Amino acid sequence: MNVIVCLKQVPGTTEVKIDPETNTLVRQGIENVINPFDTYALEEGVRIRERFGGKVTALSMGPPQAEVALKEAVSLGVDEAILLSDRAFAGADTWATAYTLASAIKKMGQYDLIICGRQTLDGDTGQVGPELSEMLEMPFIAYVSQIEEIADGGMRVQRMVEEGHEIIETPLPAVITVVKEINVPRLPSLRGIMKSKGANIPLWSVAELDIDPSMVGLSGSFTKVIKIFFPQRICNSEIFQGELENQVECLLGKLKDAGLA
Ligand SMILES: Cc1cc2nc3c(=O)[nH]c(=O)nc-3n(C[C@H](O)[C@H](O)[C@H](O)COP(=O)(O)OP(=O)(O)OC[C@H]3O[C@@H](n4cnc5c(N)ncnc54)[C@H](O)[C@@H]3O)c2cc1C
Repeated sequence: MNVIVCLKQVPGTTEVKIDPETNTLVRQGIENVINPFDTYALEEGVRIRERFGGKVTALSMGPPQAEVALKEAVSLGVDEAILLSDRAFAGADTWATAYTLASAIKKMGQYDLIICGRQTLDGDTGQVGPELSEMLEMPFIAYVSQIEEIADGGMRVQRMVEEGHEIIETPLPAVITVVKEINVPRLPSLRGIMKSKGANIPLWSVAELDIDPSMVGLSGSFTKVIKIFFPQRICNSEIFQGELENQVECLLGKLKDAGLA
């Protein structure tokens, strides 16, 4: 089984600041981590390799510092890791991100399963996994909470739905996104840490992928962030005094004035 795990390096906090000029994240002074859901994807990829042989490759698109996340993936057991990094990739929306990842996956050749996290901590859209499957023309299963069986070129999984679980079978290759219920990620081993220190992380740019630069990054994005803002919390309270009937009348009056009654 050859497994590709897509992982993204994200700010290790939910209290992100937005640059009002550029509408992008302020990354200075913030520690970056592997997107938490992607650690479950990584663990599942490594477990599949341990059961069925083959190899696990971690793939990430991001700035040069994303190499740190890929080295961490090596310390956690992946066999190889590839970083997609180029100034042309900057400003990508989810479509351009998925297009770039899909182009790299096509270049990588032989694979049986692609595992993504269910969503990221920063972008939070959950769109990249399904978009990848469309671009690679493969079956897709979201919110996988258990891989029950892999045999005869197919796979049976459990996926989480609002009121329980569904059991789904799919032929391979396929794309899945995983939830945190799927496993408990391991900690890096000493051997893994040593291996990651000397790991060579190939860097693929537009030239290596042999793709049209206008299809990636900002120019390949169909969507554009016009404005990002935090919703203002307005909490005005008023206590009505006096007889109960008067209080109810006051309340009704307020609701009518606000167009709510
Ligand atoms: C409308 C819009 C405009 C945007 N514009 C900008 C912009 O101008 N500048 C900017 O910096 N960002 C921008 N972004 C954010 C950027 O699109 C996302 O960082 C990126 O597309 C991934 O989306 P996501 O974080 O929502 O991933 P999700 O879809 O939530 O991720 C699901 C899974 O896909 C995989 N995955 C996601 N991203 C990557 C990756 N980069 N490498 C490997 N695997 C990955 C992971 O397994 C992850 O768990 C924009 C986003 C939107 C929605």
